[in-house]
Amino acid sequence: MPSFKCKDIGLKCPFETSAANEFDLEQKIADHAREAHKKEHLSADEWMKIKKAIH
Ligand SMILES: [Zn+2]
Repeated sequence: MPSFKCKDIGLKCPFETSAANEFDLEQKIADHAREAHKKEHLSADEWMKIKKAIH
């Protein structure tokens, strides 16, 4: 089950999440970025960091 933690990309944020697959996980991360980090869109660079931090 893929999981992600904001702190793994250097954010001071306790958010962590997991999902049944990477697609669902990316949706959850995008929702969290929008709601908690006021990021309407994540850049390609940011997604690269995020994907490296998915375990
Ligand atoms: Zn966060």
